[in-house]
Formats: sequence, C-alpha cells, structure tokens
Amino acid sequence: MKTENIRTRFAPSPTGFMHIGNLRTALYTYIIAKKYGGKFILRIEDTDQGRFVEGATDVIYNTLKACGLEWDEGPDIGGPVGPYIQSERMGIFKEYAEKLVETGHAYYCFCTKERMEQVHAEQQAKGITPTYDRHCRDLPKEEVEKLLAAGTPYVIRQKVPLDGTTTFHDELYGDITVPNADLDDQILLKADGMPTYNFANVVDDHLMGITHVIRGNEYLSSTPKYNLLYEAFGWEIPTYIHVERIMRDAGHKLSKRDGDAYFGDFVEKGYYIPAILNYIALLGWAPKGENEIFTLDELIDEFDIGGLSKSPAIFDPVKMKAINGEWLRKISHEEFKAAALPYIRQTCKREDINIDELVKTLQPRTELLTEIPEKVDFIDELPEYENDLFFNKKMKTTPETALSALTAAVPVLENIPESDWTEEKIHEAVFAEIEKLGVKNGWMLLPMRAALSGKALTPGGGIELAAILGKTDSISRIKKAIEKLS
Ligand code: GLU
Repeated sequence: MKTENIRTRFAPSPTGFMHIGNLRTALYTYIIAKKYGGKFILRIEDTDQGRFVEGATDVIYNTLKACGLEWDEGPDIGGPVGPYIQSERMGIFKEYAEKLVETGHAYYCFCTKERMEQVHAEQQAKGITPTYDRHCRDLPKEEVEKLLAAGTPYVIRQKVPLDGTTTFHDELYGDITVPNADLDDQILLKADGMPTYNFANVVDDHLMGITHVIRGNEYLSSTPKYNLLYEAFGWEIPTYIHVERIMRDAGHKLSKRDGDAYFGDFVEKGYYIPAILNYIALLGWAPKGENEIFTLDELIDEFDIGGLSKSPAIFDPVKMKAINGEWLRKISHEEFKAAALPYIRQTCKREDINIDELVKTLQPRTELLTEIPEKVDFIDELPEYENDLFFNKKMKTTPETALSALTAAVPVLENIPESDWTEEKIHEAVFAEIEKLGVKNGWMLLPMRAALSGKALTPGGGIELAAILGKTDSISRIKKAIEKLS
C-alpha cells in the first residue's frame, strides 16, 4: 500500500445519530491518515435531502471532536478543495456526467417512471433482480438531440461494458473480479440534475485528492462500477479498504432498537469516551500482542491493516463494559475526577465533604459512570435504615455487637484532631483500637460502614466513608446509630 501523501476522508450522511459502525470507520480512517502523516478530511454527504435532520451535522462534529478525531479539512474549517458539504457542490456534477456521455461512457435515458415500474414488475415475475433493461442505451444521436431539445426529462446512466470483466483491488480482500454483465447501468445524474451517491462519491473523492477510501463493505459490490468511472475519466483509482459489519450475533445487525447501536447510547449509559473508542477499534481489528487497552495515540502506533478481520465483528457488551472498567481504573485521579464529578453531583451536592477522598474510593470500584449517583446518594442525607443492617453472618456482627463497637469508636474518633482527619490517620486510630480490643477488623468496620451510610452496599469501607464525610458528620451519624441501637 502506498503510504506517501495520504489523504483519507470520512463521508458521513447527517442522519442525526452516529452509529458505532460509522464511528469505527471514522476512527480507522483517521488512524490510517495519522499513522502515515497524512490528512484526514471530513465531507458531509447531505444530498439525500429526504433524510435531512435538523442539527444532524452537529452530531457529527460533536461526536468526532469528543472522540479526538479532529479533521484537517472540513466544512467548518475549510481547506483547499472545498466546499466540503456535498449539497454545496451540486453545480459540478452535471458537467462531469456530460463529459462521460461525450466519451461514450454514459448515456441519456428518457424512460419514464411508469415504464421502469412495468419493466421491473416483469423482471420480478420472471424471478430476475430488477435492473435497467438498457432501453435508451443505443438511441440514435439525432433522436437524443430531438428529445433533449423538446425538454424531455432525462437521467444520465453509466454505460457499463456488456462483456468482459472488471477487477478491483481491496487491501483487505485482494483482487475481486466481476463479470461486467452483472453490473447495472446505474443512474449517475437524476432527473432533477442532482448526482446519485454512487456518482458524487467518485467525483468528490477525485476532486478532493482522496488517496485511500475506507468504508463499510456494503459498498464492496458497487466498487467495480466506481472503478469503471475512474477509468472512464482517466483518474487514478484510490486504495480501497472495506471493513466488515458489526453484528449483534451471527444473524442480526446491531440495530437502534437494542439501545446500543449509537455512540450517544454509550455515553448515556456511562461509558468513558476513550474506552468507547478503544472498544470499537477492536471490533474487526486484532492487535498483534495481548494488550487490548489503547489510547488513540497508541492505536495509531499499533494499528496495522493486516489485523483487520474479513468476517463480521460480533458486538460483546460484557467485554465492552470490562474495557470501560479497565479504563476507569487506569486513568489519573484528575481524569477520573473530571469524568465522575457530573455523576457525583447528580445525588451529592454537599461541598463540605472530602471530594478527593470520594473520587479515590470510587475509582477502583466503578465500571460505568452511571453507577456513581446511586453509590453516593447517602452522603447528602443519611437514609432511613433498620437495625438489621448491622447483621453480618460472616463477620458475626449483630445489632448488639454493633452497639459495643460504635460505642468504642466514638472516643477514638473524637480524639483525632480535625486537621488530621485523613483516611490514613483514621485508619491508624481505629486499627489501634481494634488491636487493643482484640477483635476482628469487621467487628468494628462493618458497623461503622453501616452507621455512616445507612446502606448495605457502599463505595469503600467504614474508614474511607469517615474520611469522605468529615469528622463532625461521621461522629454524628455514629451517635445516631448508637441511639437507635440502645
Ligand atoms: N455517505 C455514505 C454513508 O454515510 C458514505 C459512504 C462512503 O464512505 O463512501 O454511508
């Protein structure tokens, strides 16, 4: 594969959502450009106005930016080969389509919709896939001119050779050869003068100097027709890399109904964005070594086209969640804090707690950020609880043992100066008491945890919770438990 002066493009249609399959295409496209010092171009393919969705372009911009996939040229920042929005390029395609008519690689077709419907119905009745029956392919020149002069509506169709074969090369699939007889004389320019996607993408990729086309393999079957167009124009054919689909299981695509087809679904579910990117990179690409946790920069280093798979990738939500957990554990305290804070603040508004201690406690215990609000919901207000919260079979604690433990804990905690109220110092003091009393750790720590949180499940144990809540609140919660237990 050529690797000099690479120009790749991501060419999404603004549908209002970013499917993770599309995001993965963007990611590979970005990586291949960056790996070889090339340029990554963003082109918005919005010519299908029927699908126009308000704000949909922003979804594309915001998703790519949130993922760190910054483009070098694009609609908002411009560049030497703009405009980068396909609807603003509409003027240029007619001229190119007419050029193909002149050189004998395309032709005017005046067939009406009614005629086409009839032809397709007949084909279907015979069990043939509906195609154009090439009715206008060999119309005499004079007749074409007469019809054009009369203002008859027309489309321009590609004149695919009737025999022979067309071969194209894909970096992943190798050489693929198809009989030309199997290729449809597809429409290049529609009756309203607008290009079809199949035509526009070839012209745009050429005019934008795209050297490597990376896209979903649903375009694989159209690629021979694109090559015939490149050849007809005498343009250089780009390097193709078609990537496999992402499936729910062997028989089903990932669909929006499952709630995990779109990038936004995962953000909403509490996934950390670099982890989303990391996981989708692995959907259809295998790194050489054992490690599967990569930052974007590491992916650029590690990525190798040879690692791309030729069979569909199966989306594995369990693995994705595990990767997210690994990410949350490995990032710095400050990074985790920035990601966790909005979730903490959903249920915990208190400013007087030790937020860094809370963050430190949450970090090793969080798989999804959305788990956080429930984990910290005891901080602002101690929940109502029953005394049977103090029963623990394994540690042999009961409400009675809890009363003794907490009564012993109060003077110990009161003795710690406010300025020394850190996890380390609390630990020291409480463990000294545990040793003095000759009891098991849990005998003391479990009741502390229950009294401080009013919950059976908490992030961190009694000592961590005390450090988070501060001296005054911790002692007051413990005294309240003693009262309840007495
Ligand atoms: N606009 C097309 C899509 O969103 C782009 C396909 C391509 O990359 O050529 O599927």
